[in-house]
Amino acid sequence: MTAASKTFSSGEWLQSDSDPLVISGPCSAETEEQVVSTAKMLAKIPQVKIFRAGIWKPRTRPGMFEGVGEIGLTWMNRVQSETGLKVAVEVANPPHIEMALKHNIDILWIGARTVVNPFSLQELANALKGIDIPVMVKNPVNPDINLWIGAIERVINAGITRLAAVHRGFYFFDKSPYRNAPMWEIPIELKRLFPRIPVICDPSHICGERELLQGVAQKALDLEMDGLMLESHINPDSALTDPQQQVTPEELEHIIGKLIIRAEKGNREFESKLEELRSEVDKIDAELIHILSRRMELVDELGYYKRDNNITILQLKRWSNIVRDRLKTGLNSGLEKDFLQKLLEIVHNESIRRQTEIYKRKK
Ligand code: PEP
Ligand code: MN
Repeated sequence: MTAASKTFSSGEWLQSDSDPLVISGPCSAETEEQVVSTAKMLAKIPQVKIFRAGIWKPRTRPGMFEGVGEIGLTWMNRVQSETGLKVAVEVANPPHIEMALKHNIDILWIGARTVVNPFSLQELANALKGIDIPVMVKNPVNPDINLWIGAIERVINAGITRLAAVHRGFYFFDKSPYRNAPMWEIPIELKRLFPRIPVICDPSHICGERELLQGVAQKALDLEMDGLMLESHINPDSALTDPQQQVTPEELEHIIGKLIIRAEKGNREFESKLEELRSEVDKIDAELIHILSRRMELVDELGYYKRDNNITILQLKRWSNIVRDRLKTGLNSGLEKDFLQKLLEIVHNESIRRQTEIYKRKK
């Protein structure tokens, strides 16, 4: 059993009376006036319980705005005393932690670029030893769940008990409408493995532009994420970092107001209908797996036959015909082309892999 599943206690520190819990604030603290006025407006939104701002910014190139540094922490103190909001900042090295603690910051978070580096994580974990402060761990930039889990475990091993994971999407080389592909299966798997660690979704860094925020925030709630982190700025277009994805506090209020909060469970009648449908789905899944295994048995048989007759594994013409034929059948049955193509590709890759194994074996 891993450290995380064994010892981690709870996400109670994030419990909120107004659903969903929202963490909001600018990408970066820029001026005292910007920080305090944004916070005052955000504090009027009941769901916003935590104010975030980047004080030290991880930037791709030197010379870009690297954050205001320690002075920004005193602005965060004004937010605490003038709004009652809890405040959170990103820390990337031990001196950041030291300064944040000196200024009584309530919550720390570790950014996506830091989580990719186990050395940095261990340094942060060492600096956190013996300190009782909530820590949020963003997912690493690359879609590697073990890096994320490893970072969480290092933080837990340092003795931190109030913890959350933040899903901010993953770098993806292909074209995507998002700045960082959400790859929802990864945070879902994290929740499955560590059900007591709350997962907050950060639609701002997933979307990269404000028009997409509503849909991603809704999807996060529909997938039972435990809260949202959304960047907000009094004048987003003039923001020194991430201008396109930030919204004004009024726009944020509008987004939150439009979110549909769905229940995890319904009434008895609803539950029994749900059960009925689910058991139908379970049956079909079992059939699907059985059919796939039957298909692979035939693929193996074909593999031996082709090998023994010295024929290449892949016959492109046959494969093109399969794709055309299966797409037609699938489209006629109401399935999406994109889904069908991916499915065929997975099945085909597995078939080739099995036959390659067979070709390697001696006759
Ligand atoms: C941020 O929250 O402003 C930030 C830098 O995020 P990430 O680490 O997810 O890129
Ligand atoms: Mn940002």
